Amino acid sequence: MKIAICPGSFDPMTLGHLDIVERACEIFDKVIVLVMSNSSKNSVFTVDERIELIRKCVKSDKVEVDTYNGLLVDYAKNNNATVIVKGLRAVSDFDYEFQQALINKSLYPRIETVFLPARGDNMFLSSSMVKEICRLNGDISPYVPKEIVNDIYLRCKGDN
Ligand code: ADP
Repeated sequence: MKIAICPGSFDPMTLGHLDIVERACEIFDKVIVLVMSNSSKNSVFTVDERIELIRKCVKSDKVEVDTYNGLLVDYAKNNNATVIVKGLRAVSDFDYEFQQALINKSLYPRIETVFLPARGDNMFLSSSMVKEICRLNGDISPYVPKEIVNDIYLRCKGDN
């Protein structure tokens, strides 16, 4: 059984993230969406809230949602996962992701990182962009799964 991990901050999940998770399900037997809680980013949603939002969006029974605050490769070892799936957006993602993939491989040689190219219409989509649009009272519905549009509005919309 091939187990893959889709790691990230998911603060909150976007259609870009969801697309990568769904495509990973087409390739692997089990996909763990892993909310990394050790990110240096200031998050808007707590880890538990982010997990809840992901569970509202993801339908496949191949998917498990979990969290971890240690090294990704240690989580992989402990959960028999041998693949890390990352979405690659415009060239800006490449340097960082390539470095991460090499470090993870050197820490745990059994691990492979698989890059899936972002869909054209998700190429410039990020959680930060969604939060900014929401704060400025713009329409976020083209960018996030419909199940969580209201949750994001309730938390992020501005006062203006
Ligand atoms: P962000 O960079 O938006 O804060 P995360 O850290 O949660 O997102 O990213 C988790 C994973 O999802 C990373 O592999 C990232 O490349 C991927 N990802 C993020 N946004 C998109 C997108 N719009 N399309 C494809 N993959 C994406």
